[in-house]
Amino acid sequence: MGIINNSKTDPNKILPMTYHWARQHYKDGVANNWTPEEVSMQKDVEQWKSDKVLSETERRLILWNLGFFSTAESLTANNIVLAVYRHVTNPEARQYLLRQAYEEAVHTDTFIYCCDSLGLDPDKIYTMYQTVPSIRGKDDFVVDLTKSIFDPTFEIDGQKNIRRFIHDLIGYYVIMEGIFFYAGFAMMLALKRQNKMVGIGEQFEYIMRDESLHLAFGCDLINTIKKENPEIWTKEFQDEIVELIKKSVVLEKAYAKDACPKGLLGINADQFCDYVEHITDRRLERIDLPKQYHTENPFPWMSQSVDISKEKNFFETRVTEYQTGGSLDWDE
Ligand code: MN
Ligand code: FE
Repeated sequence: MGIINNSKTDPNKILPMTYHWARQHYKDGVANNWTPEEVSMQKDVEQWKSDKVLSETERRLILWNLGFFSTAESLTANNIVLAVYRHVTNPEARQYLLRQAYEEAVHTDTFIYCCDSLGLDPDKIYTMYQTVPSIRGKDDFVVDLTKSIFDPTFEIDGQKNIRRFIHDLIGYYVIMEGIFFYAGFAMMLALKRQNKMVGIGEQFEYIMRDESLHLAFGCDLINTIKKENPEIWTKEFQDEIVELIKKSVVLEKAYAKDACPKGLLGINADQFCDYVEHITDRRLERIDLPKQYHTENPFPWMSQSVDISKEKNFFETRVTEYQTGGSLDWDE
């Protein structure tokens, strides 16, 4: 028995259930339901159109993050639906993947909404993953390291291929969603704390809450495969994964410096890099690998929950029946 390579798995028969964590992540995802239109962009539009509110540095940071996320969300959705779903046949895990795919559609929609509201040129934003080297570097890295499971002939038979599968899952979940999204999250939330682009900032908070669930599911999936196939988790393979993750950190720091070369009011660019190191150690621990950086969290506010009742504008316009939890928190 196992979550992969289980000839007894019937993808249509969800009960009785084996992996209750997958079911719980599905329920948590549903409880977090939101849509971008529930967040007003009015203040953001005013600030964006005014030449007195945002500095050139801040405009660059906003554009870089819209440029990265606008295509990264679709890349993630495609990975889930076209590659991961095919190989994870367990029905409760698939139920979660369907939920995640929907959330990626909501995130894609968020960037359409942002581009439309601010009147940005889509040809500029949606080609930044090709034209901006620091964004391209991240996307190319993920596409390159997740080649195996996109290969239509790939099957997870034998130790070598189970390792390839885990390697690619780490590429999607730990590196893309767990590391490459986080300098951007920190930047947009730092801006929001200065009362700038608060609508986009709020949307980023909701995306971050979803992403922390995606990451949690991904790590549970990876850890379950490891537990059920302990022979594949050799020292050599662990070292290979650590090296891969360290390479991704170099790319994420380059991106942070490129998006925000001079830092933001009260925050210097190196602090975004420290934050990337800090969260990477947490990702490593989550899949039982040794910490590499031991860097303190420069932004303790990133792990605090936001009390929704304080978000007055948001609360009043919200479709409240979706929400079963009272606070907006995430596992950073
Ligand atoms: Mn997403
Ligand atoms: Fe995601």
